[in-house]
Amino acid sequence: PQNNNIRNFSIIAHIDHGKSTLADRMIELTKTVSKNEMMNQLLDDMDLERERGITIKAHAIRMVYEKDGEEYILNMIDTPGHVDFTYEVSRSLAACEGAILVVDASQGIEAQTLSNLYLAIENDLTIIPVLNKVDLPGAQPDHVAQLVGDLLGYDPDKIPRISAKTGLNVEQVLDKIVDEIPAPKGDSGKPLKALIFDSVYDSYRGVINYIRIVEGTLKAGMKIRMMKTGGEYVVTEVGTFSMRRDPRPELTEGMVGYVLANVKTISDVKIGDTLTDAANPAEEPLPGYKDVLPMIYSGIYPIDPEDYKDLREALEKLRLNDSALCWEPETSEALGFGFRTGFLGLLHMEIVQERLDREFNVDIITTVPNVEYHVYMSDGSMVKIESPSKLPDASRYDYIEEPYVKAQIFTPKEYVGAMMTLCEEKRGTFETMEYIDETKVILKYDLPLAEIMFDFYDRLKSLSRGYAGLDYTPSEYKRNNLVKLDILLNGDPVDAFSVIIHRDKANTYANAICVKLKDLIPRQQFDVAIQGAIGGKIISRSTVKAVRKDVLAKCYGGDITRKRKLLEKQKEGKKRMKSIGSVEVPQKAFLAVLSLS
Ligand code: GDP
Ligand code: MG
Repeated sequence: PQNNNIRNFSIIAHIDHGKSTLADRMIELTKTVSKNEMMNQLLDDMDLERERGITIKAHAIRMVYEKDGEEYILNMIDTPGHVDFTYEVSRSLAACEGAILVVDASQGIEAQTLSNLYLAIENDLTIIPVLNKVDLPGAQPDHVAQLVGDLLGYDPDKIPRISAKTGLNVEQVLDKIVDEIPAPKGDSGKPLKALIFDSVYDSYRGVINYIRIVEGTLKAGMKIRMMKTGGEYVVTEVGTFSMRRDPRPELTEGMVGYVLANVKTISDVKIGDTLTDAANPAEEPLPGYKDVLPMIYSGIYPIDPEDYKDLREALEKLRLNDSALCWEPETSEALGFGFRTGFLGLLHMEIVQERLDREFNVDIITTVPNVEYHVYMSDGSMVKIESPSKLPDASRYDYIEEPYVKAQIFTPKEYVGAMMTLCEEKRGTFETMEYIDETKVILKYDLPLAEIMFDFYDRLKSLSRGYAGLDYTPSEYKRNNLVKLDILLNGDPVDAFSVIIHRDKANTYANAICVKLKDLIPRQQFDVAIQGAIGGKIISRSTVKAVRKDVLAKCYGGDITRKRKLLEKQKEGKKRMKSIGSVEVPQKAFLAVLSLS
């Protein structure tokens, strides 16, 4: 059958171990893209991704490779590289038969080496380990090969030692893909089943779905049905993707490609859904589909109320390419009209904020992110709260539950003590400690998601001089002594500053906010009292003393340009202010609250 020569695979690695560089070399070696067409790190095509060095959106690239006189089709499916996008990674892997596990020979096995490996194993993939960066003076290929070999049950001597940077031994990897990864199995006689592993919105053509045909045949003119969402569309084009879209008459079982069907309703398309033939539907969708639910929420408000419509349009456009992003309108007394927005994680939130700023040029204020709380009401019902300001009055509920995660902290053993102290401070419960090798340890903790949202990752990095890594998966909700802390400016609660917090941490947090806001709120023509309060009881206080600010007083003499510069600077500063009651609060103040915990 024709699919004997197909190999579908992904590259998985810890961040910076060389996944994108290896992908570039393979694209070059197979002449999929000519050298002068070749951009660096072709797969990371969004600016933002390139800057952050992470691949956010997956794509598939078809390469042709000749081995022993035979032509093979190698479909390389790129996966997002961050813990926030685990589900998308798992769907991309589900489209493959094999995975190349890249390990930096100077760093060894790291947190995401393991988490990605586990995802690949869950998807029954054949794994080919590869040691990269052997050109580095600090590389220890033999030592790392032994560890990786033990982990996978793979002969350490047969693990390719490569340099993705120089191209050394990259052919060995291509040969192993052909030799070790099985050809796809599938039945062309069966009704169509195609896995949607990624989708991108194109304003002219609608949603472009990236798919893997598992069974059956897909061609233009067919009416397809999305099995989970029920959306039905007539296919206008199918094809494969190398540098650009290559239309083909049909896609058959085992093939990876794209499908166009004028899909304009984004909510019809869900990653992990199964496409079938509406006229001859499959009985069951493919396994593994999940609804992706946001893990954290934050309010997004335009700094200038006039920008509300622009912000809404920008969010709508972003959602087209980011099915995990969700939002609904919300009103804040302090900030006016905005949106309560749900994200997969903090990184996802930062990406969205940056894109709003860069691509859409809307100035926004974001509130302190929070998790979703389960509030058990006195009448026995349960209410889900996505915003602290929506928490009912304390007299109306019995208790609150918060989400936990199973966290794996990966650390050199000398930092184990520091990591444990950090986790205790963050209300964590110790589970286990395992050795990866003689120098590295995995600590497992049960931690409240709200605690790792703030500075946890930064603290972990600084306490371990950058060596520790973190990975987590959601677990269950647990009851805790949680309270709502309000921040008042001159007696008025600023809803955007309210947080739900553990009672034991409320005082420290409230004091820190009072001190911080005192520095950040500029002096005004009257005293500004800043107070932290729980249920009307004041627990902290600071005051910004009144003063009349005269920037020009600082310039004596006739330096006109300096005066003008100062005035312009002040005007610029004003733009980033938000009036709350009678008090002007700079945007910085909202952001600064984020760095507290
Ligand atoms: P990714 O995060 O796994 O996609 O990693 P990248 O491919 O972006 O590589 C991370 C960094 O390592 C980049 O600066 C690469 O230039 C560098 N790098 C990748 N492969 C090699 C290699 O074989 N040798 C050396 N010396 N550097 C490499
Ligand atoms: Mg990369």
